[in-house]
Amino acid sequence: NKNNGLVTLAYGLSEYMPDTDLRVQDVFERADALMYENKKRFKSETFENEPVVESYSFVRFYELYEKLLSAICNFDYVDKELIGELLVKISHMFRLSKGVVRVYRNRQEEMEGGGETLCPFDYGGECIEIKTIRAETSVLSSGTITIYQSPDADPLTYEEYEKVELVMRTVLSFVTRNRLKDIIYDLAFFDDAGYPNLRSLNNYLMSLIKSGRYQGKFACRYNLRHFSLVNQEWGRPVGDEVMKKHFEGLREILGESGFLVRLGGDNFVCIGTADKVEEAKNYLQEAVIKVDEVSSVKILTSAGIYCVPEGAVINDIGDIMNKIINAFRAAQSGGSDHIIFYDERILQRKQKSMRVQQLFSDALANEEFVPFYQPKVDITTGKIIGGEALCRWFHEGQMISPADFIPALEKTSDICKLDFYMLEHVCRDQRKWLDGGENRKLVPMSINFSRKHIMNMDLPDVIEEIMDKYRIPHDSIEVEFTETTTDVGFSDLKRIVTSLHGKGIKTSIDDFGMGFSSLNLLKGIPWSTVKIDKAFLPEEGAADNDERAVMFRGVVTMSKSLGFNCIAEGVETDYQLQVLRDAGCDYAQGYYYDKPLPKLEFESRLVTKSYADRI
Ligand code: C2E
Ligand code: CA
Ligand code: CA
Repeated sequence: NKNNGLVTLAYGLSEYMPDTDLRVQDVFERADALMYENKKRFKSETFENEPVVESYSFVRFYELYEKLLSAICNFDYVDKELIGELLVKISHMFRLSKGVVRVYRNRQEEMEGGGETLCPFDYGGECIEIKTIRAETSVLSSGTITIYQSPDADPLTYEEYEKVELVMRTVLSFVTRNRLKDIIYDLAFFDDAGYPNLRSLNNYLMSLIKSGRYQGKFACRYNLRHFSLVNQEWGRPVGDEVMKKHFEGLREILGESGFLVRLGGDNFVCIGTADKVEEAKNYLQEAVIKVDEVSSVKILTSAGIYCVPEGAVINDIGDIMNKIINAFRAAQSGGSDHIIFYDERILQRKQKSMRVQQLFSDALANEEFVPFYQPKVDITTGKIIGGEALCRWFHEGQMISPADFIPALEKTSDICKLDFYMLEHVCRDQRKWLDGGENRKLVPMSINFSRKHIMNMDLPDVIEEIMDKYRIPHDSIEVEFTETTTDVGFSDLKRIVTSLHGKGIKTSIDDFGMGFSSLNLLKGIPWSTVKIDKAFLPEEGAADNDERAVMFRGVVTMSKSLGFNCIAEGVETDYQLQVLRDAGCDYAQGYYYDKPLPKLEFESRLVTKSYADRI
């Protein structure tokens, strides 16, 4: 080198490019040209230290690129830091000032400019966009990558440009692939509304069981009660929000060590540590969720809880799931307790209910079911104005109460068979009373029909057919239905009630006030009679008596003003009778007069037809 008198080597190095190099000569010519260029520069420039030659960056680039590829393709562990460092080095090499990657889950997100932004390097200052590449995956998630240079940086040569593009495509395919993995993960383990789903629960339980970490934990399957009413009243979007808030509230209680998923609809499962079970239970019993600044809704649930006992050995997911499902079913199938802890009794109850189901058809054929009759009384005259037929099961010399077999029959459609059977037996008895002469005059009898019937379009016809078979006047049967809370149930019920009335058959709404949609049910369906649930009747000396008496009076006033007859059930005491009088409720049914009576006893009551001593 003439400038500094040192011996200097100029060389040109080129790499074989499979796409463009057809002959060895092509590669050689590039190296040769580069060598000459370097030689020229050595003549005109002073190199203090190592000469910086173009070919050097060639080698260096592929070295970096190779490292980048190997970091990206490491499926065990993605070293984001290393990838970032390599990209920074590459950015220096090509005089880039900024690189931006954007990823979108779907087209809409891209159009709205949402998505996620990554910025592997940004050296600040003014910058000019050099190139953008976009890629779309088969499920329409997409990504873009853009690089920038500062305005005074040397522009990229053609070769540099190609290398930069290679890196961009590599990075983009890596990022979109990773994003695709996230999307698939979300699809697999979360539902549309973003709640973790059953599959994620299974995964979680599996890992709990494998590691034995189920000790000291509890599991709970629960359902939001009457949630459709929240949707009805506030609209679906608010309903969704309330549900989310309720979910988040429980998640907060369960804390880091808890796990909570939605099975679908308003059904959920949670796992938590035993120290949280009490708090979780209280929350599930009743939680007040804010709707907006001024309003809130009470959310109640039915829940089955299983606390893993000390030393328990659990081998598979079913060991836990079956228990919470059984406890949950018990919590759902009536009774006042909507939160039930799993214990062996639940299993016994389940076995009992299976036994009822097994015995049922024989019992029906053997006429083991018998109607008992409870008088309904006009409280001012003491006269019997009707009765209610209540089913009793005589099995192997024992009398079984409805509470012990009706819920089991309601799980299948057996209850419908029983109800028709009861109607038939009541009609048979009424026929006998009709034929028996003046002194045993017929009184209207009400019969309970399970809610299971209301989907049956033919119900009114079947009822009429049975009555006509025994030539029973249509106004001497009243069909009792309990409340319903769903829209579908409501319109079905309305149709049935209207059709029964068309045939002259009376109807009443049973246990009125227990459910939630009471007012709608009164306004929308033309019942003959409203039967007010016993829960409204104050007991002598009870703390909330005033409240109950006010509500009782309210229900009576409302029902009467809508033109319904009113009857109170479960009247047991003088005190309660007085409450009825004060409220203007004219009819009563209850132990105060009589318990449900066997047919013969009821017949003898029909002779006297009056409780004159109890007015
Ligand atoms: P329900 O229709 O509400 O019947 C009234 C229940 O209250 C009866 O219980 C009756 O014995 C009881 N009761 C009457 N007066 C009093 C009182 O003064 N105090 C108290 N504490 N209770 C009183 P029961 O007979 O055990 O029937 C229970 C439920 O089983 C009935 O409730 C009804 O929902 C159902 N059920 C009974 N027979 C049939 C049937 O043939 N078909 C259907 N689907 N359900 C039935
Ligand atoms: Ca009833
Ligand atoms: Ca009732």
